[in-house]
Amino acid sequence: MIHSIPQDTIQRIKNVANIVDVVSEHVVLKKAGRNYLGLCPFHAEKTPSFTVSAEKQIFYCFGCHTGGNVFSFLMQREGVAFPEAVRALAGKYGIEVPTEHLSPAQKERLSENEQLYRVNEEAMRFFQRTLIEPQSGQRAMSYLVGRGMTRKIIDGFQLGFAPERWDALCRKLQEKKVPNELMVKAGLVIPRKDHNGFYDRFRDRVIFPIMNLSQQVIGFGGRVMGADLPKYLNSPETPIYNKSRCLYGIHKANRPARASGRVYVVEGYFDVLAMHLYGFENAVATLGTALTPDHVQMLKGMVGAAGQVYLVYDSDQAGIKAAQRSVRVFEEGFLDARILVLPKGHDPDTYLREHGPDDFLKWADKAQGMISFIISTAINTHGLSLEGKVKVVAEVQESLAAVHDSVARALYIQQLAERLQIDENAILEKVRQATGRSTPHVAKATDFRERLEVNDGRRLEQQIVAMMLCYPQMIPEVLGRNLVDYFEDDQLRNIARMLGQRGATQQASAADMVSMIEDPRYRGLMAQLALEECHWDRQGCERFLSQFEAHHRRRMREDLQRQIEAAEKNKDTELLSTLLRKKQQQAGRGLINS
Ligand SMILES: [Zn+2]
Repeated sequence: MIHSIPQDTIQRIKNVANIVDVVSEHVVLKKAGRNYLGLCPFHAEKTPSFTVSAEKQIFYCFGCHTGGNVFSFLMQREGVAFPEAVRALAGKYGIEVPTEHLSPAQKERLSENEQLYRVNEEAMRFFQRTLIEPQSGQRAMSYLVGRGMTRKIIDGFQLGFAPERWDALCRKLQEKKVPNELMVKAGLVIPRKDHNGFYDRFRDRVIFPIMNLSQQVIGFGGRVMGADLPKYLNSPETPIYNKSRCLYGIHKANRPARASGRVYVVEGYFDVLAMHLYGFENAVATLGTALTPDHVQMLKGMVGAAGQVYLVYDSDQAGIKAAQRSVRVFEEGFLDARILVLPKGHDPDTYLREHGPDDFLKWADKAQGMISFIISTAINTHGLSLEGKVKVVAEVQESLAAVHDSVARALYIQQLAERLQIDENAILEKVRQATGRSTPHVAKATDFRERLEVNDGRRLEQQIVAMMLCYPQMIPEVLGRNLVDYFEDDQLRNIARMLGQRGATQQASAADMVSMIEDPRYRGLMAQLALEECHWDRQGCERFLSQFEAHHRRRMREDLQRQIEAAEKNKDTELLSTLLRKKQQQAGRGLINS
């Protein structure tokens, strides 16, 4: 692996980083025996199969077979490369990653994503400075204060201001020797149409830096202070910014959401800030997009499957639209959500300012589940006239069809039938039609990955690899007997060879060994094997290796016997004599009697 981080720095991080702590920031974990168990962040599931071992510092999902160590967890979870995962952990544990010693050529090799984080960080600092400078930032500061923002919120969310100039940021970054292409790639500047230079994307706007869980700046949102349009402007999609995988405020909301088991999803930047202002730090916002399956997984990672997710809207209209669009996504992510519609004319900011946090909580208590909300809104809108009832059923049938749990669905249908005073079967029929139209696609990660098939030989091979992982003293013995050459499974053979190369020279922990492997399929398999309980002793190991040898010889003997019989049947005397010679050789090596 070529990267720019010194080996001793990586080792220091390994020494202090605890995989349980790191995973806990993304997944709600419960102690289960020796390990920790939670809902997999890499596939949708109802019952936990995601296992983390504190002892071995590895994780493995028995559902989708993803596995690895603390670095690979972050790499997959945040979609980043190894150096970025290392830097994120270094930041978390206050370990400095030196870069001064890097030669220009090495700096060049810093991954593109790292460079993008850095230029975004630069830009954020520039916007922040501009906001607090008395001259340039005065108007923006008064605007924010006018919207009720305190200095604490402004600093805490690192708000900034992009001045009313065409190239303020561009010049600043050029001074810092940031290449133009990188600024363009980060979405901070736009090339002029006449190819003569660049101009700033964000001008005369209040700036909201958007961060990921590791507190890296991935993009920006900018809001005008007057009536200009568009009111909001966000960074374009970049290699590090994908709005369907980002939630504004997640870096602040993660811990409080975890602690309270509750998260509020509000509509915009200012809503998140207002929630914070009144003590609700467990609030995030989507960035101008409907909730996606990735969002649902992120929310589930914050509060767990039994957690409470409140989608907060400022009108019935916004609420119903969101509920209808999101019901399937939540159903498929196995997460429940409630719809909280604030009283007419209120957004979280005005509501909290007028009524205070206690009333907000009382209001939240009245929030309905998605389906109940969709049903009652439809009845309120269309009424209970004959035509009204027809419209109500037409409006809710798709949502009902999206409900996976057949008991829940039956109960909703029953409830609806009672409220509309029509026959349950009539509704059921409509829901069935809707089910036929929609193509439910429950994400089954297992479909896409090779399932472990258990046959004797492969099972034995797996156990040998597990032994090499947990009892590395046996590695020389395994190599000495050439047992790996007998392996029939390619993956296992390759892993065993890798372990052989490494383990023969030095002692390495399971997490170390897992980290040697870059191919995610191999890594998952390896993590699974490393998780197996370690009950080996020297004698047990030797007995087992002998068993394996015996198994292999039996297989060879049976194979040969089959070939001999076939040759006899075909009267292929030449082949027959070769095979018989082979049989004699086997016997001569004492294989026959073992
Ligand atoms: Zn999984």
